[in-house]
Amino acid sequence: MHIETLLVRSGVNRDPATGSITTPIYQASTFAHPRLGESTGYDYARTANPTRTALEEAIAVLEKGETGVAFASGMAGVMAVLALFKNGDHLIVSEDLYGGTYRVLNELFSEQGITVSYVNTADLEQVENALKAETKALFIETPTNPMMHVTDLKEIIKLAKEQDLLTIVDNTFMSPYYQQPLALGADLVIHSASKYIGGHNDVVAGLVVARCSELGEKIRFYQNAAGAILGPQDSWLLLRGIKTLALRMEKHNENALKIANWLTTHPLVEKVYYPGLDTHPGFEVMKQQATGFGGMISFAVTSPDIVPVLLEQIKVITFAESLGGVESLMTFPARQTHADIPEEIRNRVGVTDCLLRLSVGIEHAKDLIKDLEEAFDAYKK
Ligand SMILES: *Cc1c(COP(=O)(O)O)cnc(C)c1O
Repeated sequence: MHIETLLVRSGVNRDPATGSITTPIYQASTFAHPRLGESTGYDYARTANPTRTALEEAIAVLEKGETGVAFASGMAGVMAVLALFKNGDHLIVSEDLYGGTYRVLNELFSEQGITVSYVNTADLEQVENALKAETKALFIETPTNPMMHVTDLKEIIKLAKEQDLLTIVDNTFMSPYYQQPLALGADLVIHSASKYIGGHNDVVAGLVVARCSELGEKIRFYQNAAGAILGPQDSWLLLRGIKTLALRMEKHNENALKIANWLTTHPLVEKVYYPGLDTHPGFEVMKQQATGFGGMISFAVTSPDIVPVLLEQIKVITFAESLGGVESLMTFPARQTHADIPEEIRNRVGVTDCLLRLSVGIEHAKDLIKDLEEAFDAYKK
C-alpha cells in the first residue's frame, strides 16, 4: 500500500465490540483479568494501553520498523534510546543538533561516563576521523536543526555497518512521509511527535521505532521501567494527526519552497538554508533519500538589529518555539531552542545572532510572504 493510504488507515477498525472507525480513547489505568494466569493482553496501562498500542503499531508500519514505542515527549524517546549506552561508550553526534538532545548528552549522560564527539555528519571524513575503539553509535539529524545540513544516509549507514555501530536518526524534520531511514538500514528512528506527526501544535509526544524487534524490546523495556509513557488522549491526538500527514507535508513543502525562493531575493537576507533550493549543498542527496524537502527554513539576516523588528512585526507568522504544526512559527535559535549550546560552538556552526528559523505552516503562501515583506519593511523605515 502507498503511504497516503497507510496514514489514513492508522488505528482504523480496531474495536470489534462496536465497529468504531477510530480507535477509542481507552481512558483506563488497569484491565480485568479473565481468570488466574490469563490476560486480555492488557494488564496495567504503563505497560500497555490499547490506544497507545494502536499508535505504536501505526508508527512502526509507517517507518517500516518492527517495534514502535510512544513516549511522553520527544526527549523521553531520546532518553530511552541513549539509555542503551553505558559507562565508557562513545557516540558520534551531528554537531548542529536539537538543543535538548545536546543538553541531555552533556548534562546527564556525560556524568555517566558516556563521551560524545560532535561533528558535521554531512562530511563522512569528519565521522571517520572521530571513530574510536569505544564508539558504539552514530546519532544523526538530517536535515539538521537549524542549519539544514544533509547527511547522506546510505553512505553513513554503510560506514556504521562496517564499524559495527548503531545508526540512530532523529527523523522529526522529515516525518515518515518524506524520509524512512530504517528502510535504508538505520537501526532506530526517533520523532518528536510534537512536531509534524501531531501537526497541530497541540500535543507533546515522542516516538521511537526500531528496525529489529531485539532492539525494540530494549526500548519497550525502558519505557515500562522508566515510565514516561504517552497517555491515551495524546496517543489519540497523534492517531488523528497522522491521517492528514501526507496532505500537510505536501503543503508545508510547497509553501516552504515559495518562501525560500522569495527570501533569496530579499536585500536584508544574507543567506537562506533550505534543502529544496538547488543551490543547497545537500539538494542532490535529499532527492535520493527523501521524497520531499519539508517545511523548515533557516535564514540569516544582514544585521542582528533586524531580528527583534521581524519578531515583533510578524502578524500571520507567530514568534514561538516549536515547529511542524499547521500554523507558521518563527524561532530565534540562538536565544531559544539552542540557548543551551555554548556561544563558541553556536557561532562555529552558524547559529548566530542573525539566524532565524521558520516553520512554514499550511496557510496561503502569499499571506506568509506578505507578512514577511511588511515586517522587513518596518525595519527599513
Ligand atoms: C522538538 C525536538 C525534539 C524534542 O522533542 P520534544 O517533543 O519537544 O520533547 C527532538 N528532536 C528534534 C529534532 C526536535 O525538533
